[in-house]
Amino acid sequence: MDIVEKLSILGAAAKYDASCSSSGSNRNTGKFGTASLPGICHSWGADGRCISLLKVLYTNKCIYKCAYCHNSADNDIPRAEFTPKELCDLTQSFYRRNYIEGLFLSSAVVRSPDYTMERMNETMKLLRDIGFGGYIHVKAIPGASKLLLDEAGYLADRMSINIELPSHESLKLLAPDKSKNSILDPMNHISNRIIEYAGAQKGSGAFAPAGQSTQIIIGATPDTDKQILSLTQGLYNKYQLKRVYYSAYMPVTNHKALVHITRPPLLREHRLYQADWLLRFYGFKAEEILDDSMPMLDVNLDPKACWAVRHSEFFPVEVNRASLEVLLRVPGIGNISARRIIRARRIGRLSFDDLKKLGAVLKRAAYFITCNGKYTPHLMMSAEGMYRSLITLDKRPSFNNAIQMSVFEEKVPKTFQMLPTVGRLQ
Ligand code: SF4
Repeated sequence: MDIVEKLSILGAAAKYDASCSSSGSNRNTGKFGTASLPGICHSWGADGRCISLLKVLYTNKCIYKCAYCHNSADNDIPRAEFTPKELCDLTQSFYRRNYIEGLFLSSAVVRSPDYTMERMNETMKLLRDIGFGGYIHVKAIPGASKLLLDEAGYLADRMSINIELPSHESLKLLAPDKSKNSILDPMNHISNRIIEYAGAQKGSGAFAPAGQSTQIIIGATPDTDKQILSLTQGLYNKYQLKRVYYSAYMPVTNHKALVHITRPPLLREHRLYQADWLLRFYGFKAEEILDDSMPMLDVNLDPKACWAVRHSEFFPVEVNRASLEVLLRVPGIGNISARRIIRARRIGRLSFDDLKKLGAVLKRAAYFITCNGKYTPHLMMSAEGMYRSLITLDKRPSFNNAIQMSVFEEKVPKTFQMLPTVGRLQ
């Protein structure tokens, strides 16, 4: 099998991993200079710059049988495996042609976790030895030894290990070859190493300086959003993860233990990202967003507005007096506008017009605020009226109808052949 064939198999197989982000550039002219070769994805660095990465699996020859996975040993699909030298040469030649600035390296488990991790480390080592200073995100293999994880951490910029399923029970049922400990122990080890080496410069002993991330598959099991958000909160607190990625389950098999869906739950995935944002940047706790009386996120309304409608005791908020923490709870006031409001009101009292200029979305915020004691009729609405009215503002028609192709779909759009998914590096 030649290297282009390997690349098209292993680049395509890597698209099921959402824990590296990519955009869907489709500039495939078939001519010199195309930016859409198989396996190339686009991500964003901490500074917001777009970075193109070669996103591939080292191999898809998996010995495991995870029910939700396209690469499961049970599936009859074309299989391929690079050698470390091939993958190093490929990355180097893509880099020299200016196609990519870095590598996202994941893999199925071939022979054993240690064997696989060794091959991945060897690939990274070859690259670093020839002077490759670009970004490398490597996926740690559950069950690989700590020594190999350490080696990977010194070679890569970011490490991640996929938690995949939100509960121990689901993991036992759908990924019997993996265990909770085989995922959480390396995550803990990587986290400790990152803390230990924090501040060290890249190239002089830094350990995964861009941190670690993980991915949870959404919708393959009956686990609720409440379980998923509590897990996410625990992961951020305990292992200082940079990001938790949510990946709407794409139906690839008819395994009897899987929840039967025909389309990936993209809107649910989107709501989870919004709730995740509330945990990380808005001071919310998972148990405030969802509880036993409401274990699933409302697909009709974003989680922040949902929380606000259910907590009338918290409102109205007087924007000229409220603290940053309180302003951040107001729908229509984001992190940037809240800080601008705090700064601007040092100079004078703010009006509704000022709020607009500072970036607040008044058509949402008007239901929850007073400004110099003044308010709009929206504030007087009942919770139910507010809910109905806010839903009409949350216009996402394209999302409501969004579909993602199943791998069994006959006609795969060109964009999907180019491996697009969207997210961020940090
Ligand atoms: S270990 Fe499981 S999830 Fe990973 S490639 Fe193999 S079958 Fe898929």
